Amino acid sequence: MDALADIIALATTEVSAAADLAALDAVRVRFLGKKGVLTERLKALGSLPSEERRTAGQAINDAKDLLQRALEDRRAALEAAALEAKLAAERIDVTLPGRGGRPGGLHPITRTLDRIERIFAQAGFSVTEGPEIEDDYHNFGALNIPEHHPARAMHDTFYMDTPALHTGPGGAPAPGALLLRTHTSPNQVHIMRQLQPPLRVVVPGKVYRYEQVDPSHNWMFYQCEGFAVDRGITMADLKGTIAAVLGHVFGPRRPLRFRNDYFPYVEPGLDASVQCILCDGAGCRMCKGTGWLEVMPAGMVHPNVLRNCGIDPEHYSGFAFGAGPDRIAAVRWQIEDIRHLYQGDLRFIRQFRSTMRPPES
Ligand SMILES: [Zn+2]
Repeated sequence: MDALADIIALATTEVSAAADLAALDAVRVRFLGKKGVLTERLKALGSLPSEERRTAGQAINDAKDLLQRALEDRRAALEAAALEAKLAAERIDVTLPGRGGRPGGLHPITRTLDRIERIFAQAGFSVTEGPEIEDDYHNFGALNIPEHHPARAMHDTFYMDTPALHTGPGGAPAPGALLLRTHTSPNQVHIMRQLQPPLRVVVPGKVYRYEQVDPSHNWMFYQCEGFAVDRGITMADLKGTIAAVLGHVFGPRRPLRFRNDYFPYVEPGLDASVQCILCDGAGCRMCKGTGWLEVMPAGMVHPNVLRNCGIDPEHYSGFAFGAGPDRIAAVRWQIEDIRHLYQGDLRFIRQFRSTMRPPES
């Protein structure tokens, strides 16, 4: 019996000393396993005289129970300690200040739009927004681009499956389904139909075209529509306004060029270009060797458009232009691939934090 007491003393000492669950299991196997010390003792009971067998068996079983309980207590303690250690390792002090917080900056397109809007606001234009989903009539028909007009081929349009919301002239259903606007010009129609001249409005926003994506084209881009309608508005007002705006954006000494161009919703139409800011007119890759960068198509609002909007072209005239903020941003910062503007890559975007100023501003 002394021997049994020694075994129990040794076993419980080893249990307390087990540093982890693996060590504890080794102790269990050594004493209670198939060939464990106590198991062997039980096996040896058969050799004892029958009168001693019961007492000895009882003592060994008590010892086993005792050891079993010690093992379980130790296991629970080890598991609790392991959890404690894990929690301590993952501890977060929520009262500490954040690590390396970087201030954000405005996106180059947002900055360009802000700049354009600010300049027009100073010139008495109001800034508004319009829907990105339009119907055929507002996007094309009312803007003097009837069905089968060849100009539609330039507007690779995303059409939607849903039917048109608005009705055409005389309450007839507008032809075609809803579409994603291909330009911001439908806002001329919305605004002229709601308000009476004099009107001076700019409408920035996203437009969509089903285009092959390449360094200078994307399926979504920004436009900033602007127009003025009043009595006696002339081409001189248009040229003066564009010259003032481009002077603010690209610097007052940058030469401008106006050339005749065609758009169905204006007559006459023109395209305003600035001298290439990279080569100063000598010709380079950005200006494709021409020395000029086309940045603002414009023109006098077509009398048909005024008529479609309930404004009498005998009494009123107007001009309209469509600035391309993406194009202007690309030119200002000499961005070779406009796709960078839409990819949200922080390595690219971070270059445009307020410390970086575009040329001549
Ligand atoms: Zn150039």
